[in-house]
Amino acid sequence: MAKKLNMRKRYELLTRGLGWETTYQPKEKVFPQETYEGIKITDWDKWEDPFRLTADAYWKYQAEKDKKLYAVIDSFSQNNGHLNLTNASYINALKVFIQGVSPLEYGAHRGFANLARQFSGEGAQIACQMQSIDELRHVQTQIHTLSHYNKHFSGLHDPFHMHDRAWYLSVPKSYFDDAHSAGPFEFITSISFAFEYILTNLLFVPFMSGAAHNGDMATVTFGFSAQSDESRHMTLGLEIIKFIVEQHEDNLEIVQGWIDKHFWRAYRVLGIVSAMQDYMLPDSPMSWKEAWEIYFVDNCGALFKDLARYGLRMPKFHEQATDEAEHLSHQIYTAFYQFSHAAAFHTEVPTKEKMDWLSEKYPNTFDKYYRPRWEMYAQMEKEGKRYFNMGLPQICQVCQVPMCFTEVSKGKPMDLSYRVSEFNGDKFHTCSDGCKEIFEHEPEKFAHAWLPPHQIFQGNCGGAEIPDVLKYYHFNPEDGGDYKGSTDEASWKAAHGIVDDENSTHEKSA
Ligand code: FE
Ligand code: ZN
Repeated sequence: MAKKLNMRKRYELLTRGLGWETTYQPKEKVFPQETYEGIKITDWDKWEDPFRLTADAYWKYQAEKDKKLYAVIDSFSQNNGHLNLTNASYINALKVFIQGVSPLEYGAHRGFANLARQFSGEGAQIACQMQSIDELRHVQTQIHTLSHYNKHFSGLHDPFHMHDRAWYLSVPKSYFDDAHSAGPFEFITSISFAFEYILTNLLFVPFMSGAAHNGDMATVTFGFSAQSDESRHMTLGLEIIKFIVEQHEDNLEIVQGWIDKHFWRAYRVLGIVSAMQDYMLPDSPMSWKEAWEIYFVDNCGALFKDLARYGLRMPKFHEQATDEAEHLSHQIYTAFYQFSHAAAFHTEVPTKEKMDWLSEKYPNTFDKYYRPRWEMYAQMEKEGKRYFNMGLPQICQVCQVPMCFTEVSKGKPMDLSYRVSEFNGDKFHTCSDGCKEIFEHEPEKFAHAWLPPHQIFQGNCGGAEIPDVLKYYHFNPEDGGDYKGSTDEASWKAAHGIVDDENSTHEKSA
């Protein structure tokens, strides 16, 4: 009878000796993307996957997780779980998630499938292939979970189409497109390390505890189901960085440059999360600033102390990101507030309770700079002049965020921050030193970025009027605007028997 093999042995059988040396074609032609970025790999066999997950164990774990998840979302659906949320305005956070994040999961699925093909090392191929399958599962479970909300609320009906076209979604889309259109080593440094290892906790932890705080057990469950994959992905991110740097001394400088670039790019994408966390959750478990302190300043500070022995240092401009922590969510949500007539989610002036919470969490900035602005907007609204910005904003050529950031690091938090570069006789605008450096390093790449406002002006987005553009985005009229007076609010009130009065929509249902 065959002896039962231990896990390590089975892992070796799965991941070693499967490749072959090429004979009738040169190896570079079989793996054409492996060398052009300048990364030198001398021995792929030094690659160790710390998880040593075999295929049979993988399918077993994932099937168990799916069984649990689908049992929860079935019962959530049958019991009309959406009625137990804090408030229907919470759904706006879910809209941002499925429009902005879920398509990135699909992008990661494609990207890792490509890496599994392009890397010639078998251990790395297996790890990338499993991550590719994980990412496909993530996007599927997210769509299945949120489809329940789509039956009752607006803005959730066509997230992938929206992601490809809408102005605010070009922020996450262009980040992933940047990684996809780079070589395989830059892609993995970007997505596995800069995004997943350094910054993913800032997305998932507050989002999932935010869901729990607001009564959304369905979302909590898909979050947990993805989280165990996430720890595997984070380990891949860390291991690949160490592996590349250890393979050849020439690799260090290239990798550090990618860490600098993709940290800044991923951080700019997370500006959307900061707004969601501080403003769109009726009940926020922690502020953006608190999360930044824990997950970036403390955790990543310790990580890079550890990585110093490989010659790696903290990403460039991290000090600026930390300086901005007290301003970021306020600036981004203000942009959302002004432009939500052209978005597929609703915004509103924060409630009194929310403003008090923001004062408490942002003692140095909120009362001084941002509360007066919200009070002005509230006053305008009272006078029947709810403010929507009818112009099109200048956006950053690199991160594609509207120019709403300020010179925080220069001690001038009320001065708009923008930089100008020239390339081939044209002017290009960026939002910060970080984005300017990225532009100037690869101007030929970023010069032809697809910028939504420019495209609208050129007539490439359905027409010249706002309704034409919204149609092109597949936004319905009820998807955008203020939460007050929205169909979401109306159906929430009807389901809970709430009679109109100023504050009642923000009370928890009994
Ligand atoms: Fe994922
Ligand atoms: Zn930028």
